[in-house]
Amino acid sequence: MVTMQSEITVLPGVGSVRAKALAMLDIYTVEDLLLHFPRAYQNRGDTQTIMEAARTGEKCAMILTVGSEPRSVQLKNRKTLTTFTLFDDTGRITSLWFNQTFIRQVFHVGSTVRFWGKVTRGSRGFEISSPEFEPVNRLRPLPALFPIYPLTAGINQKFLQNLVAIALSSLDVPPEDSIPTSIRQKQGLCTRAEAFVKIHRPESFTDLSAARNYFIFEELYEFALGIAGAKRERRRLVAPKLLSTPEMRDRFRKNLPFTLTSGQEEAIADVERDLSSGLAMRRLISGDVGSGKTVCAAAAVYIAAENGYRSALMAPTEILARQHYADLTKLFAPLGIRVGLLVGSLTAAAKRKVKTAAAIGEIDLLIGTHALLSDGVELPECGLIITDEQHRFGIAQRNALAGITNGVVHNLVMSATPIPRTLALVLYGDLDVSSIRTMPPGRKRVSTFLVDDTYRTRMEGFIEKQAAEGYQTYVVCPSIEAKDEEDEGALVGIDGHTVDKTPLHNAVEYAESFAARHPNLKIGVLHGKMKGADKDKIMARFASGEVQVLVSTTVIEVGINVPSATLMIVENAERFGLSQLHQLRGRVGRGDAKSWCILVSDTESEDAKSRLNALCDTTDGYEIAEFDLKQRGPGDFFPPVGVGAPSGRQHGQLRFRLASLCDDMNLLQAAFSAAEETLAGETQ
Ligand code: ADP
Ligand code: MG
Repeated sequence: MVTMQSEITVLPGVGSVRAKALAMLDIYTVEDLLLHFPRAYQNRGDTQTIMEAARTGEKCAMILTVGSEPRSVQLKNRKTLTTFTLFDDTGRITSLWFNQTFIRQVFHVGSTVRFWGKVTRGSRGFEISSPEFEPVNRLRPLPALFPIYPLTAGINQKFLQNLVAIALSSLDVPPEDSIPTSIRQKQGLCTRAEAFVKIHRPESFTDLSAARNYFIFEELYEFALGIAGAKRERRRLVAPKLLSTPEMRDRFRKNLPFTLTSGQEEAIADVERDLSSGLAMRRLISGDVGSGKTVCAAAAVYIAAENGYRSALMAPTEILARQHYADLTKLFAPLGIRVGLLVGSLTAAAKRKVKTAAAIGEIDLLIGTHALLSDGVELPECGLIITDEQHRFGIAQRNALAGITNGVVHNLVMSATPIPRTLALVLYGDLDVSSIRTMPPGRKRVSTFLVDDTYRTRMEGFIEKQAAEGYQTYVVCPSIEAKDEEDEGALVGIDGHTVDKTPLHNAVEYAESFAARHPNLKIGVLHGKMKGADKDKIMARFASGEVQVLVSTTVIEVGINVPSATLMIVENAERFGLSQLHQLRGRVGRGDAKSWCILVSDTESEDAKSRLNALCDTTDGYEIAEFDLKQRGPGDFFPPVGVGAPSGRQHGQLRFRLASLCDDMNLLQAAFSAAEETLAGETQ
């Protein structure tokens, strides 16, 4: 019996080798396979005549009739060539098939077939070589949109297309609905079973949009359920009362090398109120990069320590953990607060030492990565857990923490994603939010420019110049899937729009060609498919100045601080949301030197240009986020799968597949009210 939960190996053609390859795509079960959505579609409903196809010379769909019986001949190179003619009202072409003699059984004079391929001019006149084909059935129209999937080594397009089709037709139990029927109907959504068929083999754009709506709502609804659950829970959580006195406030401030900004003072006041309330603090401190969130967290650590409680600080990467460790050790030394570091790269002996120190109460603030939580670490009398979020709302991380601590401690989350208030209320519904909107004095603004490809030579000269002066450059390219083995022709994106044909820069290739042009520069590459430890290594080499130009995908969005990096270049800038670009820009301008951000785009779209120009005009992250929300909807605030996601499978990790396409605030709100309703038990 084949069900959604069946191992992928129940499907014919999937043995242990293929199963291993599929695991690289996070496909282990039939459901995982069906959730592996197409990245784009070939528009085969839009057919061309032979004449049109010959004129454009691009891959396209044609409906043609077989004009002669297939005949095979043996070629000198031992290959067999099978040929037959095809025609429509505008002309006649010869189809060529090498070593595919089975074709003789498939095609017969008079049958009508939809082909997908490229018409070229050859020795036999117009020719088409090994096109893809689907017999036309008069009773049932052929799907208009043919799926193109993200691939990995050992898995090709045709295999995946077939496998999905097999899975869809061999399910003995249809996929269960994950949204209660009444809610689904109220939203006018199709069933989950229908949505799977429509996303993999849409017969029309209407099908595609129905599927998209279903899955966007499903993701938002599941996400909302998590938030709504946490929100209900927290009202009941009793936690130690941690009190602040005027003397403590005074001592903490006197120890700082600067005066707190008004935004920082307000955030700290919020934290003090939470900590002394007797209920568990669940607070988010949101503030632009560089707004000084760390010191607010430090204030909380100090209050906890003065009240006899220890704290833990979890950073998303080892580099960040080390950075916090260096900064906070210095800050806390005069206050008598002992800081420890626990990260994966420490030697076993060093780890043991830190763990022992923590367990016997010699560490007041333990800083680390995920390792903190999983390695059986003991931190007695831990009253406060702080997380520095890697990217937009690590809800999974937050939930994991809540589980591990049984909710008896105070939680503080720091996030550098400026988020419009309306959206924060919804997305961070389980947290109270303090927004720091003031910047420490003396910050230089990062000069931002929008340029097109004609500036490349000058721009690369500028990179050389920065390097000569001892500064470093980031180059960010959009994340792209492993290239398919062949050109797929014009594609329709999963959002229903034609995929922009501007060639996309891929970090790995970019770095290679850049290195060839600039042999004197030291170049590093960083992308999401690399192992965590390798990423950290490259980042460390960049931070130390050894690597002068870091070519990466958006993985560097992480709040890393390299003060000597002065230039940020974003290729294909039109591909990014404004908030994301703003985030990237925040990687530079962290030292005393003048810094620049150059957005490179060849887009023709006036909309895109005006968005990018808005970024050149303002440096206020909140203003930019509002602009993004208005122009593109809330989807930009959901990281798509892959962006910054940890490699490998993480239990309970929420993956947004399509939510980033949500362009409608009402839909988001509907999903959240539906989740509230569900939890309130008002829905059957
Ligand atoms: P982020 O909000 O991005 O985490 P950080 O907390 O890392 O920002 O602070 C960025 C830098 O600004 C740090 O070097 C910090 O010491 C400094 N800083 C923080 N607050 C102030 C302030 N009120 N005045 C001057 N410098 C400050
Ligand atoms: Mg920070």
